[in-house]
Amino acid sequence: MFELPEELRLLKKAVREWALKRFDPQLALELEKREEFPFELWREANKLGFLNVRFPVEYGGQGMGLLADAIVTEELCRVDSTLGTAIVLGNFSSDCLMLFGSKEQKEKYLPKVTSGEWISGGAYTEPAHGSDITSLDTRAVKEGGYWVISGTKTFITNAPIANFFVVLCQTDPGAKHRGQTMFIVERGDPGVETTTIHGKRGIRCSLTGGGVVLRLQGARGQATRPSEQGLLPVHGVPRQEQDTDSRPSRGHSSRGLRHRLEVR
Ligand SMILES: Cc1cc2nc3c(=O)[nH]c(=O)nc-3n(C[C@H](O)[C@H](O)[C@H](O)COP(=O)(O)OP(=O)(O)OC[C@H]3O[C@@H](n4cnc5c(N)ncnc54)[C@H](O)[C@@H]3O)c2cc1C
Repeated sequence: MFELPEELRLLKKAVREWALKRFDPQLALELEKREEFPFELWREANKLGFLNVRFPVEYGGQGMGLLADAIVTEELCRVDSTLGTAIVLGNFSSDCLMLFGSKEQKEKYLPKVTSGEWISGGAYTEPAHGSDITSLDTRAVKEGGYWVISGTKTFITNAPIANFFVVLCQTDPGAKHRGQTMFIVERGDPGVETTTIHGKRGIRCSLTGGGVVLRLQGARGQATRPSEQGLLPVHGVPRQEQDTDSRPSRGHSSRGLRHRLEVR
């Protein structure tokens, strides 16, 4: 039988106890109504070291790997799926930098993410391209010494609050998925604009979905790779992200199952 090592058992217990103490259902309801990100809880969870477990120690994480991250996500979402989802997605897409960023990019962005100073976002989906991102309308073109990005992304988690975004762009339109590159753009960079349409059906305090849009018109981006070899991020990162993405549902399901057993 598989058993969690002591370190992970302790983590699981600590996260569950904290969430049970701090996730007030009334607060969750209020934040949902107001469509507000749970900043205070997110800061506290960061301070307690729950949200950086999967990041390498050299960038301020704890080097405990994806299993530890999955445990944190499940435990938070088991207690409250809305607050849990919002909180764990605060560092969404930073994995792209971890896997494909240059040393300088990692040194600049990851410690800010792992310390809970900055929120990140990942922008892949476009109005005309949902599941199929093998060919994108968002273009990045090299002009002088810079990459200039133009396009619109949609359904972007954290769009209204993220400090920076990893944006998937088409650098060689003729090469489809082999001609894509990820870029980093920061909030406040010229040409980076976000909008929010309110009234999602759920997880409203995770400011995602609906019509949260990232508009990039003439934005200057930093390529995560020195050249246009952008295929890897499309396949490699979502795999890692999906692992964290699917965990909230595990948390909700186990809560539902427990409830069912309790009421029987
Ligand atoms: C809450 C929320 C947060 C999100 N956050 C982000 C984010 O941070 N960044 C980001 O880039 N995107 C984000 N997304 C977008 C999400 O990744 C897309 O919604 C998803 O990729 C599906 O795209 P779509 O909605 O256009 O659906 P479509 O691609 O149009 O798919 C519609 C349906 O058709 C099915 N389908 C599609 N293609 C096929 C096929 N070839 N064969 C069989 N069935 C198929 C799909 O499974 C689905 O059921 C978010 C979405 C939501 C709802």
